[in-house]
Amino acid sequence: MSATVLDGKHVAALTEAELTERVSALKQKSGGRTPVLATILVGDDPASATYVKMKGNACRRVGMESLAIELPGSTRTNDLLRQIEELNNNPDVHGILLQHPVPSQIDERAAFDMIALEKDVDGVTCLGFGRMAMGEAAYGCATPQGIMRLLAHYDIALEGKHAVVVGRSPILGKPMAMMMLEANATVTICHSRTRELQSHIRQADVIVGAVGRPEFIRAEWIKDGAVVIDAGYHPGGVGDIELMPLIDRVSAYTPVPGGVGPMTINTLIQQTVESGEKALG
Ligand code: NAP
Repeated sequence: MSATVLDGKHVAALTEAELTERVSALKQKSGGRTPVLATILVGDDPASATYVKMKGNACRRVGMESLAIELPGSTRTNDLLRQIEELNNNPDVHGILLQHPVPSQIDERAAFDMIALEKDVDGVTCLGFGRMAMGEAAYGCATPQGIMRLLAHYDIALEGKHAVVVGRSPILGKPMAMMMLEANATVTICHSRTRELQSHIRQADVIVGAVGRPEFIRAEWIKDGAVVIDAGYHPGGVGDIELMPLIDRVSAYTPVPGGVGPMTINTLIQQTVESGEKALG
């Protein structure tokens, strides 16, 4: 069987070309204004700083602006909430990205939920999650929404399929499961207390690895013809799923790297452009 490679790098590049045109059209209509993504980085974690920088670079590539806010590691919850409120009230800002994780003294959930729904382009608020789960309009959480976009690009329908999502984090597993349910899949969510994990995975028509442990999901647990989505990325270029033995016997898979990863920032940027179009267009 020749599997379809779900090439996130390719889909992200196609989308960036389209977004560049949309930003340029918006600029012409609005007297030179572009969508603006505000990024908030609290503390000096180097990995978080790199992610924020990558997001700013992606904005520049499509011709839109970003506003980088850096706060000290000693920032308190109230200071951060005030900063977010200011951005909510700033008409020149169309999307707000609070880089996860924040230092431990901060109530991260309170900070996420301070973001106004119309600027929640990373899809992190409880309100946005609830609306999405109810089939109402909301920006999707960036990584799972990126996965849904990737599946749509390659015409992989979920209706009636059994999707097994391994992981239930607020930014990945839970919204992923709800999005797949909305797309009429039958969804099983597995986590660290799941019994007989292998037997659940063996039933999957679509398997999503969102565990955060290298090659934790073994190839032999996955049935022939399945669609394999791997959100993990670890040193050595492996994901959460043991991929190599699968590439000749599944119907589609995300490469690691270059599958899910590029779709996350791409979705954030796409949703910021949408928000900018609503506000400026
Ligand atoms: P996380 O918050 O650490 O969540 C991991 C999940 O895996 C938890 O729900 C946990 O269950 C579950 N789990 C842990 N051990 C397990 C076990 N033995 N059996 C079954 N489930 C188990 O991680 P995350 O933020 O969701 O990220 C997951 C992976 O995706 C990581 O590799 C991360 O790097 C990657 N990721 C990639 C992107 C991207 O842009 N490409 C974005 C975000 C994350 P409990 O809830 O029971 O603890």
